[in-house]
Parts: sequence; C-alpha cells; structure tokens
Amino acid sequence: MRSLKFIFYSKVPKMKIVKTIDELKAYRSECSGSIGFVPTMGALHNGHLSLIQKSTSENDHTIVSVFVNPTQFLEGEDFHTYPKRTEADIKICEFAGVSALFMPNSEEMYSMCEPSLCAPSHKAYILEGLARPGHFDGVLRVVLKLLNLAQPTHAYFGKKDAQQLYLIQNMVKTFFLNTQIIPCEIVREDDGLALSSRNVYLSSSERQEALLLSQSLKVATQKIIAGQRDTLSIKASMYEVLKPLHVEYVEIVNRDFDTISTIEIGQSIILVCAKVGTTRLIDNLWI
Ligand code: AMP
Repeated sequence: MRSLKFIFYSKVPKMKIVKTIDELKAYRSECSGSIGFVPTMGALHNGHLSLIQKSTSENDHTIVSVFVNPTQFLEGEDFHTYPKRTEADIKICEFAGVSALFMPNSEEMYSMCEPSLCAPSHKAYILEGLARPGHFDGVLRVVLKLLNLAQPTHAYFGKKDAQQLYLIQNMVKTFFLNTQIIPCEIVREDDGLALSSRNVYLSSSERQEALLLSQSLKVATQKIIAGQRDTLSIKASMYEVLKPLHVEYVEIVNRDFDTISTIEIGQSIILVCAKVGTTRLIDNLWI
C-alpha cells in the first residue's frame, strides 16, 4: 500500500545510490537527526523489508547496504553463486523510503593489509561457527566497518540470525560503539518457512522438507506450553520431527548463548540447523 501511495502521488523522495566510501562519508556528513541502518547481502525479501520498514518508521533517515561480504564465506561456500537481484533491490529500497543505498565492491571495503578481528571463540566457534569456522570473524569485521562508515544511531538485525545478532550486540557493547542495535522479529511464509535469500536454492520437494525446521520448533513450543522445561527431552522430540533431514544441530541456549538444561521463559532460544539437499537452513524460536 505504501509503495502504491508513493507511485500515485510521486512522493518517493529521491534515494541516493552510493558506491564509494567517500560518497557515503559525504552523504553521512549532510544527515542530521536519527539514522537507521540495515546491513544486508541483497536479494531482498520480506524479511529484509520488515527491518527496512522498522527503520524508516523509527528514524529520520535510513541507510541500507547491499554487500555480499567475501570474508564471511568459507572455501567452497556459495560466495560466487550467492543470489544477486540488484535492480529489484534498488526498487524495493526506493519504494520503502530508504534515503541511501550503499552498494560497495570488495576493493572499496577491504585492503591488502588490515588488522584482523576475532570473534570470541567460545561464542563464535560453536553452533553456526562450528560448521563455519571463521564465519563470524568475517561478519564482525564487515559490520564494524559498516557501522563506522554509516555511523547510525540505530542498526537493525534479524533474530533469524540469532548467534550473529548476539555477537554483534556483544561487539557494539565491548567496543563502545555509539549505535543502538535493534533486534527484529523473524518473518515467515504462511506455512512457517523462515524467509531466507537461500530459499531460492530449494526445489519444490525440498521446500516441503524445509518446513520440518519450523515444525520442529512448533513441537518444542507445544511441549513447553504443556509444561515441559527439560531441554534434553524437548530436543529429543525435535530430532524426531527432523529425522528425514541431515540435522547439523538442535540446541537450546540462554540469551548469552550458553547451553541450558532447563528452559527459562523469556530467557531461552531454541536453535535448529539442517541441510535440505545441499542447502543449509537455520531457524530459531525465542522463548
Ligand atoms: P542477509 O542479507 O542474509 O545478510 O540478512 C540481512 C539481515 O536481514 C540480517 O540482520 C538478517 O538476520 C535479516 N533477516 C534475514 N532473513 C530474515 C527473516 N526471515 N526475518 C527477519 N530478518 C531476517
């Protein structure tokens, strides 16, 4: 509805497309008031859009970045084939009322000689980081650069990537960055599948199988509603649901990403990761 309104009344404020660091710095120096920032890797879907809309509704200006960050991909991962939909991304941002879209290339973001940044190993080399060692070092490295460049008052991240969100919140806190991190709810398809840019890799039969991830979280919820608090028992019932898939992990952690044995309402996150065909999918539920 909002985009239609923009079209009919031609009131879409001109969005600036920014490709270089210098341009972004120049743009940023002219902005006053609150700045919301939404970092993405593009191929934007309604999950991304919900972050963008939250930002535009809460801030004077919104900057979105689209950058497929090479340092967070491991050898053999899908960096070179990661979905790209530049034209559609530009249109989505324009109609959503984004003020500036930052689309740098790797040369702009990285140089040959840089200090390294290591995510805390006991939180970054577990779960996602166990299967993807070094992934979160790359994530923090690019997010630190992007936050330094955009200098947002608020930055929006999805709970879909719960471990990433935790590590970013931790970095912002421990490096004394002047940005408030805003966690955003997971957006799902009507049938429960969490939106992800990688869902395009799924064949129609794989897409059906992928529903088992959210279904396993539903089963966990039912157990908790019925009074179950023992995480071993909850995890066992999730594994039952996930049996047809290649499960990488099912884990229940507190908000500091420590594994817990008893669910505490308001303090727990149930995480699942499984491969459907060759596509690795993650999902979670904040209890
Ligand atoms: P990505 O482009 O995958 O790096 O994601 C950019 C941001 O969008 C991250 O903060 C993600 O957590 C968030 N995001 C991705 N998928 C969803 C979703 N289904 N619901 C809410 N946020 C999401």
